[in-house]
Amino acid sequence: MRKRFIYQVILISGILMACTSNTTNAKSVTKVQGRFAESSTQAETKEEKKDLESSKEAESSAVQSSEETTKATEATTTAASTTQEETTTAKETEVKKEAVSEVKEAGEIGLNPDWKYASFSKINSGKSMLYTPSGNSNGITIAVNAGHGTKGGSSQKTQCHPDGTPKVTGGTTNAGATTAIAVSEGMTFLDGTPESTVTYEMAKIFKDELLSRGYNVLMIRNDTDVQLDNIARTVIANNNANAHIALHWDSTTSDKGAFYMGVPDVGSYRSMEPVASNWKKHEALGKALVNGLSANGTKIFSDGRMDMDLTQTSYSTIPSIDIELGDKKSDYDKDTLRKLSKGLADGIDGYFGR
Ligand SMILES: [Zn+2]
Repeated sequence: MRKRFIYQVILISGILMACTSNTTNAKSVTKVQGRFAESSTQAETKEEKKDLESSKEAESSAVQSSEETTKATEATTTAASTTQEETTTAKETEVKKEAVSEVKEAGEIGLNPDWKYASFSKINSGKSMLYTPSGNSNGITIAVNAGHGTKGGSSQKTQCHPDGTPKVTGGTTNAGATTAIAVSEGMTFLDGTPESTVTYEMAKIFKDELLSRGYNVLMIRNDTDVQLDNIARTVIANNNANAHIALHWDSTTSDKGAFYMGVPDVGSYRSMEPVASNWKKHEALGKALVNGLSANGTKIFSDGRMDMDLTQTSYSTIPSIDIELGDKKSDYDKDTLRKLSKGLADGIDGYFGR
């Protein structure tokens, strides 16, 4: 009878231990809950990291989350505190998701080696970033390519044309060459500012203008540097966008005005693929962009075009233009860049009949 009583006492206290995680006697139960809480927090942290890659806010949030994970590990947690932490994490996740939708980043896009012409690229470890508008998208994606900004880009050479034929016009690389610098460093403005800095500032303003008009925007270079050469940039645009606009300023010093690099009027060049199937689209897009710029008050150089055999044009399978928005002497203050963005966006609207 007494043995049975002792057995019952042990049984009841066992049940109490299982039900109550606040009692100091229930250490084994608490530890199990603590480990569970810890692993679920880590899982959430990993998920959050995945969602928020490349966002600076995300980095600081991830640090907060790791701190919480550490706290969870150290704590001999009670059920109550676990619930509190889970609630906090859930709240933070909501806040972070809101932050992400504000910047409207839809995702990173790198070079897929299976894409046509991808094998001609030498520098391709970088990623582009696709942005989508907050409202309804019009379904058209514009690749905005901030010219230059690839460290080490001039130490590599790539084939000028996919068929190995020589360049038909001179530019950064002379006519007759079969290889060219993979991506050049660009010029320096008369005030000492590198072209790559200005093209990136322009790209960000242009991106916002396009998003406000309902376009998706593929930022080919989404930072001060991207490890993507001209072929990689072009192939990424070919496979993810409906048009490709590369932003540049020319290396003259006369503030001569804006123009686009036109497809050279050379039979062998215009009959080479993929130029043959696309050069008329490039020309139509170039004209539309210059019309948009002109209508917005931007000075235009000559008739707004210059023949140029570019790597970009030689590998483009979508309407694709290198637009020179001015030169070393031109203004590039925010108001000027906004005016240029409106002009280019009007040109794109015109090209797509919007
Ligand atoms: Zn340039």
